[in-house]
Amino acid sequence: MRIKCPENGEVTPEECIKCGKCFPEPILKSLLAGRDYKRTHRKRPRFGVTYLISNCLRKSYYQLTEEVPIELEKLWIFSRGHAIHNFFQKDLPKESIEIFVKKNYSVFDVIGYVDAIYNNVLYEFKTINTVPQIPQDAHILQAQAYFSLLPEEKKEKIKKIKIIYFSLSSIRVFDVPKRDISPLLEAKGTILAQALKLGKPPRKQKNYLCDYCEFKELCIGEKEPSFDPSKIIYED
Ligand code: SF4
Repeated sequence: MRIKCPENGEVTPEECIKCGKCFPEPILKSLLAGRDYKRTHRKRPRFGVTYLISNCLRKSYYQLTEEVPIELEKLWIFSRGHAIHNFFQKDLPKESIEIFVKKNYSVFDVIGYVDAIYNNVLYEFKTINTVPQIPQDAHILQAQAYFSLLPEEKKEKIKKIKIIYFSLSSIRVFDVPKRDISPLLEAKGTILAQALKLGKPPRKQKNYLCDYCEFKELCIGEKEPSFDPSKIIYED
């Protein structure tokens, strides 16, 4: 992982801690702890759910093939979300939280971690600045994707899917229809796997988030890709 440095472009986590200009060392150490993980090289594509429910597969392609330096502020957002997840998971039985799910399709695998399944209800936790009035489409798809990846006998037992939004000041709960979106995951994963095999990004899926997309310059050809097919990395 590379850190986006306001003074020196990109730095490693070690260089960032050593410099210490942005934040004191204890803060930097906490923000950067465990972030320099290595991903295993795999021959067979293995996608996390979020790559397939994304509203732009081209973006997912770039996420898998390009290293993007990350801002410290973003790490704080991730860390805060993680801490809130932990708070709501800590009193649930161990076997009810962070449940690993996996499904093999013909040319790729999909994996994910369900936040919690308790009393046959599947929960997806979302930390957000402002809780929405209705659940976001991407979050509905994500929760339904986890449901779809459950083994059949577990899937049959699920009574409800709930998305719980947490902001710093409120909590809101939504019920989401139980829907098996395996065909959608299969269709999108096949496109992504093929694009990676050919080293050619999928077509643009222009949307309202394009202006905030960290790959915009690459996408519109203002920056050269650094893609090297031998360096594709997939989720562990
Ligand atoms: S700029 Fe828009 S179309 Fe291009 S990769 Fe990002 S989200 Fe997709």
